[in-house]
Amino acid sequence: MSAEPQLLIDKAYVAGQWRDGERRFAVTNPATGETLAEIPDLGAEDAREAISAAADAWPAWRRRTAKERANLLRAWFDAIMANQEALARLMTLEQGKPLAESRGEVAYGASFVEYYAEEAKRVAGETLPSHGVDKRILVFREPIGVVAAITPWNFPLAMITRKCAPALAAGCPVVIKPAEATPLTALALVKLAEEVGFPAGVINIVTASRPAEIGEVLTTDPLVRKISFTGSTPVGKKLLTQCAGTVKKASMELGGNAPFIVFDDADLDAAVEGAVASKYRNSGQTCVCTNRVLVQAGVYDAFLEKLAARVTQLEVGNGLDEGVVQGPLINQAAVEKVESHIADALEKGGRLVCGGEPHALGGTFFQPTIIADVTPEMKVATEETFGPLAPVFRFETDEEAIAMANATEFGLAAYFYARDYRRIWHVMEGLEYGMVAVNEGILSTELAPFGGVKESGLGREGSRHGLDEYTELKYVCVGGL
Ligand code: NAD
Repeated sequence: MSAEPQLLIDKAYVAGQWRDGERRFAVTNPATGETLAEIPDLGAEDAREAISAAADAWPAWRRRTAKERANLLRAWFDAIMANQEALARLMTLEQGKPLAESRGEVAYGASFVEYYAEEAKRVAGETLPSHGVDKRILVFREPIGVVAAITPWNFPLAMITRKCAPALAAGCPVVIKPAEATPLTALALVKLAEEVGFPAGVINIVTASRPAEIGEVLTTDPLVRKISFTGSTPVGKKLLTQCAGTVKKASMELGGNAPFIVFDDADLDAAVEGAVASKYRNSGQTCVCTNRVLVQAGVYDAFLEKLAARVTQLEVGNGLDEGVVQGPLINQAAVEKVESHIADALEKGGRLVCGGEPHALGGTFFQPTIIADVTPEMKVATEETFGPLAPVFRFETDEEAIAMANATEFGLAAYFYARDYRRIWHVMEGLEYGMVAVNEGILSTELAPFGGVKESGLGREGSRHGLDEYTELKYVCVGGL
């Protein structure tokens, strides 16, 4: 392997101690197949210890002033940004995304830490008009308790800070279970937290290759009061079921099936740029990424032509190389899913416009692909592809577009391009989604509430709403006055 990446940590962190495991598992670079590190493969007992350390740390952590917690979060933010390059390289090495995207994710992930450092000071209760002259109603907003965060591999840093920063700001300790494909960025992040002085037990990270074993403990241990999960809908449903036994609160950021609608009055060049950003960023492995492109009949051919001209220019390669905009897919299973969606669409009458095959680079590199004349019977209409495939549907009327867009059990993000203001309002209001982007291809920011409806999830991350997820209300009735 080339020079050892900076911030490469090969131990887990429990109760303020860096911990080894009897077993270890390999973390590999999806661009080259090389092993980057072997890290502890922890089990149920380690997870219980991490929960117990977090529970022990809770009373002192919640008693700290909001400003003290804010200062620590701010120091963590500064440390993350001071190490942006090292974190970005580590992320590209283990996840595959182009370095420019990794740098962007570090800044995006850090922005949640900065935001919640500020927001920590604004957690407020209230007094309400009471139901008797001798009584008063007080409402306190209190930290919920030990939080368990389970995160996916597609955003190895930001999915952790989106959960941990508001939890820590609210006064909750955390136990993190990062994705087995991308634990190195997570460990580096925790190393920086340790360096800036978070007390032992307040942040714990348990690495494991058998997530179900850890997940079982995190969702059933009564000391854990809140689960925050980002990942696939099937795993989210399983975790929700497991949470029922101890009536745990849960936030779920799950899968999507985002429509990207182009109306006949749209600025087509802007729509093409938006579609490329939304579809091919992170090689299409983004929960909010476009899964279906719906184009109105009047601009169907013109849009397809422009999109194809742009997509065939996307440079595929190792994310560390200059100019690359699409890295490898995370693993072979991801390639097989894309291939199965392409084969199914072509079998049922779809027309291949470009791509369609594994890339000549081999491994898990895949050609950016467009299939036209897609219809609702095809798998791509209802399943999340999670790869660089844009299936293009044709529609005639606005009502038809809204109905097609909503014909899914998911409801995370939706995008559309149009100019007529009445149409914009009508479509915006008609879309059953947690997030809608109008004439925009990228919408994530720490300033807005991110999350889905229907089977895309429960709860929100980002904005002041993201902090409420880690608090409970306590109503106190003061009588006899
Ligand atoms: P995944 O559900 O397979 O894994 C997510 C996490 O859950 C990983 O840490 C994994 O180890 C863990 N896990 C898997 N099985 C588990 C179990 N039985 N118990 C406990 N933990 C378990 O998802 P993935 O493949 O890592 O990520 C891709 C999915 O995540 C896509 O569906 C994508 O849409 C979704 N996602 C959603 C958002 C969002 O904000 N809504 C953001 C990113 C990704």
